[in-house]
Amino acid sequence: MRFTVNSSQAVVWLLALFPGVMAFGFLSAPDFDNPSAVLNTLGRLTGIWGMALLLIAAALCCRVPGFDRPFGGLTKLWKLHHRLGAVAFLLLLSHPLLLAFSAAGTSLSAAVGTLFSARPAVIWGWVALLALMIFMAPSFRFFGEPEYQRWKHLHRLAGITVVLGLVHTLLLSRTLPGVWGPAVWGLWAALAIGAIGYRWGFSRWHGRLPYRVVAIDRPARNVVELALEPQAQVLCYEPGQFVYLTPYDTQLPVGRGEEHPYTVSSAPDETGLRIAIKNLGDASRALQTVRLDSEVRIEGPYGCFFPSPDAPPEPELWIAGGIGITPFLSRLRHCARRGQVLRIHLIYCVQDETRVLFEEELAQLMAQLPESRVTLHFFYREGPLRGEFIEHACPDAARRSAYLCGPLPLIERASTALQALGVPQKRIVTEEFVLL
Ligand SMILES: Cc1cc2nc3c(=O)[nH]c(=O)nc-3n(C[C@H](O)[C@H](O)[C@H](O)COP(=O)(O)OP(=O)(O)OC[C@H]3O[C@@H](n4cnc5c(N)ncnc54)[C@H](O)[C@@H]3O)c2cc1C
Repeated sequence: MRFTVNSSQAVVWLLALFPGVMAFGFLSAPDFDNPSAVLNTLGRLTGIWGMALLLIAAALCCRVPGFDRPFGGLTKLWKLHHRLGAVAFLLLLSHPLLLAFSAAGTSLSAAVGTLFSARPAVIWGWVALLALMIFMAPSFRFFGEPEYQRWKHLHRLAGITVVLGLVHTLLLSRTLPGVWGPAVWGLWAALAIGAIGYRWGFSRWHGRLPYRVVAIDRPARNVVELALEPQAQVLCYEPGQFVYLTPYDTQLPVGRGEEHPYTVSSAPDETGLRIAIKNLGDASRALQTVRLDSEVRIEGPYGCFFPSPDAPPEPELWIAGGIGITPFLSRLRHCARRGQVLRIHLIYCVQDETRVLFEEELAQLMAQLPESRVTLHFFYREGPLRGEFIEHACPDAARRSAYLCGPLPLIERASTALQALGVPQKRIVTEEFVLL
């Protein structure tokens, strides 16, 4: 059975909501007797739902290659993880407040006593909640736009809150009755802790394949394309997929041992991998100087941008922005090597003529595909990409499936323009080069 993106997301939400729904089923009339009882019931349910959502959000961080496919790729899976985490955060914040409001029906001191009881369960609950606030606040841009690596290190510590929250939950007797409590929490905890263990333990040591830099090409002043040769196991991937690359060149000024996502630009049946990297920040700037013969490690592949290679070929519209050409380049190289037929129209958006990457190779590859063509869009001359430009370049755009890759503003603009031209949203596939 093949899961669609929507059904996969629905399964995740059902798993996340299941413990709370179950607890709801065990409620009885006294739980709704008076306003105070209702607030208490809501307080308990928000705690159960918040904890379950947090555990499932943690389970989604496993990053097992292939696990992201039913969700439409890793970038979409991360979005789901963030949504679950955000809802969990809000539910867990309201959990002690609702319990305190419920106790306030008796007296103010009862409300204060509920919030600041010396019971171990309450103390662990506060420790977990405070830790969650500290580790999650940067995700909400609470202190402004976070620096990616700092955010990542802090976010990783959110795993600790999962364990603290579990201690709080297991010390309480009223979450789920009888054996249901240990059974449900045990299973959900196993998913979360297993995922965290895989991600930060197993995959770090066994999931990263050793490769060596064997050639460096410079398609532009601020872009390198690295050719990598496997030192042991070979990575299998499809066009359009991306990997995490970790360089180990001892002379890199920054970013040594730091993983970053990059799309593979080579064809899957080439002997090694090729990865084109644009200077977009500290680590990618340093990579422009990576040395020949240095070691890199590759983890992946992730994403599922293009339709399955077995799917019947359909006319497609591709819109690439700048370095967002890499997935399209991989597919073109792949089809050219295999002599496969592609009916595509590529609109390649760059700032001006000097920024076109792989121009000669693109022209050569396109020449091998009689029903395909490329149109360049120059931002400095034509302004932002508009629907009229797309329609003029590709008059049957509305009948094609569209694949968009590049900076987020371009993707959003192109997506809106395509929908205005009549392309249904479900036929617009995007790959953003941002994960946060
Ligand atoms: C799916 C995907 C495919 C990509 N493919 C390519 C490609 O083929 N070629 C290319 O040049 N660039 C690609 N990128 C972008 C590349 O990952 C970033 O340019 C690079 O990570 C920037 O790191 P930096 O330290 O140089 O810059 P920074 O200034 O530190 O980061 C700039 C932005 O890049 C993102 N970023 C930084 N580090 C990471 C990380 N470890 N994990 C996830 N996101 C991060 C964050 O959104 C950050 O705000 C891709 C990104 C994604 C998500």
